[in-house]
Amino acid sequence: MYDFVEGNKDLKDLLGGKGANLAEMTGMGLPVPPGFTVTTDACRAYLRTGSLPSGLFGEVDQHLRRVQNSTGRRFGDADDPLLLSVRSGAKFSMPGMMETILDIGLTDTAVGGLARRHGDERFAWDSYRRLIQMFGRTVFDVPADAFEAELAAARSAAGVRDDADLTAAQLREVVHAYKKVFLAHTGREFPQSAYEQLVLAIGAVFRSWNAERAVLYRRQERIPQDLGTAVNVMAMVFGNRGANSGTGVAFTRDPATGRRGVYGDYLRNAQGEDVVAGVRNTVSLTELATIDPACHTQLLSIMERLEQRYRDLCDIEFTIEDGKLWMLQTRVGKRTPAAAFVIAAQLVDEGVITLDEALQRVTGEQLAALMFPSFDTGAAPPPLTTGVPASPGAAVGAVVFDSAAAAAATEPVILVRRETNPDDLPGMIAARGILTSRGGKTSHAAVVARGMGKTCVCGAEDVEIGVDSCTVGGRTVRAGDIVSVDGASGRVYAGEVPVRPSRVMRYFEGERTAHGDPLLAAVQRLMVHADHVARLAVHANADTAADAARARRFGATGVGLCRTEHMFLGDRRVLVERLILATDGAQRQAALSALLPLQRADFEELFAAMDGRPVTVRLIDPPLHEFLPSLSEMTARVAEARGRGEDPGSDGELLAAVRRMHEQNPMLGLRGVRLGLVVPGLFAMQVRAVAQAAAARVAAGGDPHPEIMVPLVGTVQELETVRAEAESVLASVPGAPPIRIGTMIEVPRAALTAGQIAAAADFFSFGTNDLTQMTWGFSRDDVEGAFFGRYLDLGIFAVSPFQTIDVPGVGELVRLAVERGRSARPGLTTGVCGEHGGDPASVRFFHDAGLDYVSCSPYRVPVARLEAGRAAA
Ligand code: ADP
Ligand code: MG
Ligand code: MG
Repeated sequence: MYDFVEGNKDLKDLLGGKGANLAEMTGMGLPVPPGFTVTTDACRAYLRTGSLPSGLFGEVDQHLRRVQNSTGRRFGDADDPLLLSVRSGAKFSMPGMMETILDIGLTDTAVGGLARRHGDERFAWDSYRRLIQMFGRTVFDVPADAFEAELAAARSAAGVRDDADLTAAQLREVVHAYKKVFLAHTGREFPQSAYEQLVLAIGAVFRSWNAERAVLYRRQERIPQDLGTAVNVMAMVFGNRGANSGTGVAFTRDPATGRRGVYGDYLRNAQGEDVVAGVRNTVSLTELATIDPACHTQLLSIMERLEQRYRDLCDIEFTIEDGKLWMLQTRVGKRTPAAAFVIAAQLVDEGVITLDEALQRVTGEQLAALMFPSFDTGAAPPPLTTGVPASPGAAVGAVVFDSAAAAAATEPVILVRRETNPDDLPGMIAARGILTSRGGKTSHAAVVARGMGKTCVCGAEDVEIGVDSCTVGGRTVRAGDIVSVDGASGRVYAGEVPVRPSRVMRYFEGERTAHGDPLLAAVQRLMVHADHVARLAVHANADTAADAARARRFGATGVGLCRTEHMFLGDRRVLVERLILATDGAQRQAALSALLPLQRADFEELFAAMDGRPVTVRLIDPPLHEFLPSLSEMTARVAEARGRGEDPGSDGELLAAVRRMHEQNPMLGLRGVRLGLVVPGLFAMQVRAVAQAAAARVAAGGDPHPEIMVPLVGTVQELETVRAEAESVLASVPGAPPIRIGTMIEVPRAALTAGQIAAAADFFSFGTNDLTQMTWGFSRDDVEGAFFGRYLDLGIFAVSPFQTIDVPGVGELVRLAVERGRSARPGLTTGVCGEHGGDPASVRFFHDAGLDYVSCSPYRVPVARLEAGRAAA
């Protein structure tokens, strides 16, 4: 257990983020109410054993004594009670996911003392009813609605709209009603011992770590499930003591755009969650300058000191009690992807951080989000309404008013709610976008959506939300109606608005000039630095000259995978059919000769587009039957012809071929190098096309760097056989430049025998899609839809291994193959050409594993470049 005066911001593992930062602020001499932190160790012990560690109570007593000394009040005292807040706080921020209980220590007798001490009956009863409500909900799971119903009844009996307008006598009645609710739901009276309240509250906060919504949030955010939360116990200060009091939240820079200048919301005469819950409308921080100039000035100077200390955007929670400012929380604040880039560049300009550090302040995921399209507002109708632009993006979908419906939807949906709370999380995850009618940029909906990179507009106050419809400006929008939500402008449109590419995408696609746009300037600056420090090169998967040209504009320095089978589709399919149906060498040769010039022409264009850079051409990989019609189609076609009494002719031969080539398990069948060894002349034709195309480019003054890559090799003998044939073909083409021959490593056996295979390979390229499929025994075409959802729910993995490399399994094979390959052949080039090459977390792993390059789809190239830089910086 740590007193706030003992800890500091670097003890997040033990004290949680909130506790560590409260300690840091205390150490800076900022006005923080006194308190202490029960560590995450105690939480883990509690979660293991189900009871609070025995030594805990003595320690609580000791620390409590210090709080009593510095406040001059006693916990449990009838005349001048010390009240406490008990707050969760994990290492990683989980906004609103876990529990906090305020006003602990109030009892039937203490409420009178509190009222007398402050000369304010109303405030005392308001605090007591808040305690019963939060305590009942958190510790005993009393449904929130049961309390809300009593409060609503009191408001309507008194004829007021706002809780703040209830009188002391009316609130006293609410307390009586609440205690009945408590008794009815728990079978016991509301505890009248302050100490018992405290102990129960600490246990409840620990338990809230495993609340369903918290588990889900951690899974979504990839936060480990075994960290546990700390508990912060601190003296209460009161924002609900009248017009000179209030509570607020603020950011040191705009978390949506990154613009300099403080931003925040303040609510007078309010406590705790009132601001964040968006239940009442807040005023902006600038208005605080009029309401309480002294506190406003003090707050601004504190915020400046916090930025200097944390060297980053901070968000804070504060309370003003009767004209005195108290700091209740700070942390490095969440921000939109655009703000992340802008702020990182600003901090470099301000001399606060280095460019290397700036790279750590942004992520590939954020860059990917910035490359998404936005609405073409020129083509949009007048908006239905405009709310607070809380999290950018362009979301189009059918309206749903209920989170369960959103979670169950199969079509894209927009979740529309008055406000959200942590129970809405599954629906928020499933929805394309979120729209609320209440709350600002710091409301639950806004904070959570920003964290998930999800489009969100909140506080659209003119939207009146009913059960299965809402009205806005006299129009009715029903469940199922399509709306378009613009998270960048806050505008909401009826119907589907066309989308246009992002500024950042346009920047990468060609203009490559920032035009004074602070976001583009920041992206440019960080990308230049990423390229400068990166050790991993970024190539692209590109099958056509157009793809290769785009990849080059996006910054790719080569083609890491050209899939040649794509060159066999369309009207060339008949040539492949002829190859498959060939019954003798002459027919086969004729079919191959017809394919050769077509392939050569494709390669010439591709090499021209990547002139001066490596282009890795993979010989044909998929099973040949993929080029034929399906068995069922051919069977039906032949049966129909016969039914009409006709001779099926060539369809009959085709059916026979389809039957002959049919496989139960084509992905484990005749494909890749196996095909090359079984169909004479096929690989030779492809190698010849590569060599001739390269020779033609050289003759035309170009600088082609083709490489030939053999897929699906499992043993060195396969590669040796193909290599011998390829080398003799290469030698027979005059004018061809030197062409390296390498292999894919995508069969586990190839990884294990990499030392032998390296003897016949100039390079390795890890085909991590197949390697994942074959290592796990997961059919990648089937499992994602079939059972991965369940696996993710069960936490068997946090993310599909086809999306992010499975480091301990598949990753281990990669490491091992690199090591064995390099020791057999020093200087062996190694790369990756699976989907993982564009996945941020995987790129970092490939850097660590010492690969030379990753290759990914052209659109992911900027993301991979940024991550390669981040990994090296
Ligand atoms: P969360 O992590 O969900 O933000 P907090 O622990 O920050 O939960 O508590 C929520 C709110 O309760 C705070 O924003 C603050 O307004 C209020 N609060 C917490 N502790 C105190 C306190 N000691 N005095 C007054 N208000 C408090
Ligand atoms: Mg908080
Ligand atoms: Mg493969």
